[in-house]
Amino acid sequence: MCYQVPAMLLPGVTLVISPLISLMRDQVQTLVKNGVPAAFINSSLTEAQWQKAVGNARAGLYKIIYIAPERLLSPSMLDLAQALQFSLIAVDESHCISQWGQDFRPAYLDIPKFVDALPTRPMLAGFTATATPRVRDDIVATLGLQNPLVTVTGFDRPNLYFEVKQPKDKYAALSTCLKENDGCGVVYCSTRKEVESVAERLQNDGYAATRYHAGLPDAERSRAQDDFLYDRAKIIVATNAFGMGIDKSNVRFVVHYNMPQNVESYYQEAGRAGRDGLPADCVLFYARKDINTALFLINQSENSDEITRNKQLLNQMERYCETDGCLRRYMLHYFGEKTEDDCENCGNCNGNFDESDVTVDAQKLLSHVLRLNNAGKRFMFTHTADIIQGKSEDFTDLSTFGIMKGMPRGFIRKLVNRLTALGYLHDDDYLSVTPKVSEVLRGGVKVTMRGRKPDTPERQRKEQTAGSAKYAVSNELLAKLKALRLAIAREENVPAFVIFSDATLVDMCGKHPRSKVEFLSVSGVGQVKLERYGERFLALLRWCNSANQKSQEPTGTSCS
Ligand code: ZN
Repeated sequence: MCYQVPAMLLPGVTLVISPLISLMRDQVQTLVKNGVPAAFINSSLTEAQWQKAVGNARAGLYKIIYIAPERLLSPSMLDLAQALQFSLIAVDESHCISQWGQDFRPAYLDIPKFVDALPTRPMLAGFTATATPRVRDDIVATLGLQNPLVTVTGFDRPNLYFEVKQPKDKYAALSTCLKENDGCGVVYCSTRKEVESVAERLQNDGYAATRYHAGLPDAERSRAQDDFLYDRAKIIVATNAFGMGIDKSNVRFVVHYNMPQNVESYYQEAGRAGRDGLPADCVLFYARKDINTALFLINQSENSDEITRNKQLLNQMERYCETDGCLRRYMLHYFGEKTEDDCENCGNCNGNFDESDVTVDAQKLLSHVLRLNNAGKRFMFTHTADIIQGKSEDFTDLSTFGIMKGMPRGFIRKLVNRLTALGYLHDDDYLSVTPKVSEVLRGGVKVTMRGRKPDTPERQRKEQTAGSAKYAVSNELLAKLKALRLAIAREENVPAFVIFSDATLVDMCGKHPRSKVEFLSVSGVGQVKLERYGERFLALLRWCNSANQKSQEPTGTSCS
């Protein structure tokens, strides 16, 4: 909507710079289905296809052209660019331009050079769903935007239910999730090995699951992706190589089997759930071990700036996992959106906590940070904790060295979060005490902290009821509409959600249109889709509505 609709209204051509072939392919497929002339130019084209696309572009047959950033400065593209009149250049996934973004892509830095080579400068716009204020500033500066309009429409996705679990047995916890939520979903793992093992266990347990990671042959990868898109596999187990640009709207859950390396990645991956606006679950399984895996991966880099940057981002991710406050609020704050209210609709808001007195531990930790600060040192959490746990090789003379030896690291992390929330510590990547610290150190002020109670049977029952209520959208009519959609999708060889999204079918159930005019009032139905599919859906709706249901069912619904 952000750039395709403007592209339709503007004269000339809109060029969309997009990072992924699958993303371009899906968007062009959907555009063409909706009657918009569009094409993509990337390395997947043969020489003949490229020539044809260029010929059509020169003949003015396209309104929207997608291109990979690596192609921008190729002589043939620069040549084509002289002949076309671009009204708008849309930079999709524009966080890829920033080193602070989670998917930095050096070719994005070619965009300003390409724009400079054009006969006239078109309108330039960047779009992203996950940019912190720091990344936003990078986008504006690197694209060389002049006095730009910066719009942040809000990061909140109220239909997503966020939850962090710390299960002893992750696979058992995954099985429970799958029993509660029987829609399509993604299970993200941090390593290829884990992808293989989780996918195999799920298949052995009878789930229609497939796997995806960068180590698989291209053919197997694209088959796995298609199986998931076309609903042949309900579950895809994948590394973070899967998903950018996957526009499947009916993903009902995203489970993270391991903690990702930063909040941006997490929010982008989890955000692939519920794109149709219907309820969906985003569950993160967290274990302290995940931090070591993430640190190992981060330390593979040879660039020390990058390592420091990534450790800071990891620190923020860990805080999300350890917080006992509202998860949605944490996320919104992270992306620079201020809200003080709890959402009352996340795992922590609905969590079962008890409160304990941690004053003595708080005093130990605060006096430790105070001593470091007095010595002119401000360290990140990891180093600070290493010293107080006696795991460090420096500061062995400090009186607080090793005074929290043997304490679980997760507890210390939680305590830092709690003391930061209470205003005794600053944790802006580096830890320091605030003037308020004397209230606790001199005694008098008690510090308490909430801890998650182990799941009681009663709590689990409640969760299950809430879970099934959330998915009460399904009924007989919806099942029939879905069956017809699937039949048409198979005839046209496209994923079902390209025909209509789940949300459209739900709206169709609610509105129960009887005429073409009424059919147009269904959310997600436009003129082109009315003409293509209206008759068949209306026939089915009329048949479902008729008193004599024994009559012959319209063709194409036999899958139900
Ligand atoms: Zn909440």
